[in-house]
Amino acid sequence: MSNAIQVLAWSELTEPKYAYPKGINGALAEYLNVFDDISAKTACLNDRDQGVSENALANADVLIWFGHVKHGEVKQESIDRIVRHVKERGMGFLGLHSTHFALPYKALMGTSCAWRTYVEDGKPGHIKVVSPSHPIAEGVTDFVIPHEEWYGEPYEVPEPEAVVFEGHYVDGKEIARDGLVWTVGKGRVFYFRPGHETYPIYYMAEIRKIILNGVRWCAGC
Ligand code: ZN
Repeated sequence: MSNAIQVLAWSELTEPKYAYPKGINGALAEYLNVFDDISAKTACLNDRDQGVSENALANADVLIWFGHVKHGEVKQESIDRIVRHVKERGMGFLGLHSTHFALPYKALMGTSCAWRTYVEDGKPGHIKVVSPSHPIAEGVTDFVIPHEEWYGEPYEVPEPEAVVFEGHYVDGKEIARDGLVWTVGKGRVFYFRPGHETYPIYYMAEIRKIILNGVRWCAGC
């Protein structure tokens, strides 16, 4: 389908194979390709031009990004290209979990993007829909991620246009903004915080629905 939303699903591919045999990006692309209005490809750090060549970005409506321990290997020219495509052309950027410290994401936000703390206790996370009228929340109701890592507020990012989801952790004592949206230049940015790489939550139906909605919203739909 030629007018389908073109998604480039990128990962540094350090997520463990037992959780994501084809990477987080492969898992998401496979899922997204089920939908007629979406055409998803994968890319990774080791690809030519780090998977984000001018041509690859020019053909992408939405870039999904998963980075964790290799943020520093992403070259300045890659970062600059991504930022230009978001700000000037309106490419959407969907950042997952530890992508909060990815350099292209930090360049888009313009802040440190640091959380107060990071606690991998593997305990349940209660995800609450706090902006039910937002398109990214369509068809999503509160749900529980059985095992997760939590990040603690404050989270140093610009004031978002909307907080779509909150995560409640440690018996509700820790409440984090787990789904946030901004417009940066002409582009839409969605950051989704859950998704520690050893807990394969990107196979969960609720999470997949959020990513699907997020892709469509980032594409301007
Ligand atoms: Zn993590």
